[in-house]
Amino acid sequence: MLLEVQGLCVNYGHIEAIRDISFGVEQGEITALIGANGAGKTTTLKTISGLRKVRRGKIVFDGKDITHAPTYERVKMGISQSPEGRGVFPGMTVRENLDMGAYARTDRKTAAYQQDLERVFQLFPRLEERVNQAGGTLSGGEQQMLAIGRALMARPRLVLLDEPSMGLAPRLIQQIFSIITEINDQGTTVLLVEQNASQALRRAHQAHVLETGEIVRSGTGAELSGDESVKAAYLGGDL
Ligand code: ATP
Repeated sequence: MLLEVQGLCVNYGHIEAIRDISFGVEQGEITALIGANGAGKTTTLKTISGLRKVRRGKIVFDGKDITHAPTYERVKMGISQSPEGRGVFPGMTVRENLDMGAYARTDRKTAAYQQDLERVFQLFPRLEERVNQAGGTLSGGEQQMLAIGRALMARPRLVLLDEPSMGLAPRLIQQIFSIITEINDQGTTVLLVEQNASQALRRAHQAHVLETGEIVRSGTGAELSGDESVKAAYLGGDL
């Protein structure tokens, strides 16, 4: 396992946002967390990134206990996140946003850095076309591409994607999910949080259903797609 989450509990004051959740992310795979609004998906990703404090439990990355490691250490170790709502720096250009994703890297003048930039432009040609445009003037779909591209510029071993399809038109949703599969095929392990359960389950090797802060079901993407209770609760009208 590249990432192991063991008995994790996270609170906001007295509110228990996640309660005793345990799951793993296998190296080379796409793992999906699905669930309704408020189930605790974003909190889980933020905690793995070190942006929320752990009340109880443990996070292990590549065999090392990172439960209390600062976020910048986790980025250096190979974990980066594309946040919910994209978090594009609006006054910075596309290129500057991408460079911010590589903030913790010391190899910006090297061929490896240039290769990563080219990888992002190959995945998202639209970003290359708009490289000098301010992030805040991009469309919603383009901002989503930029948020994912920025996360990739950290050269992560594990990329955390929070609701990449949120607010996008159906055609763009398909495109974003295909690109997530491509990123994974290129060797990056993915932990994907989604409300668009059918697309997420179609792409995921493993998946977990979160309900009010707890994991209530786990299985392969195909198993959960065929599970009657998952179908009834989560696979209604998605594309
Ligand atoms: P969404 O898809 O709507 O973001 P989610 O599954 O990602 O939902 P979280 O955002 O992780 O859910 O929220 C889990 C719980 O924690 C919810 O009950 C939410 O109200 C609560 N919560 C989240 N952020 C805060 C906060 N900053 N302060 C207090 N409570 C919070």
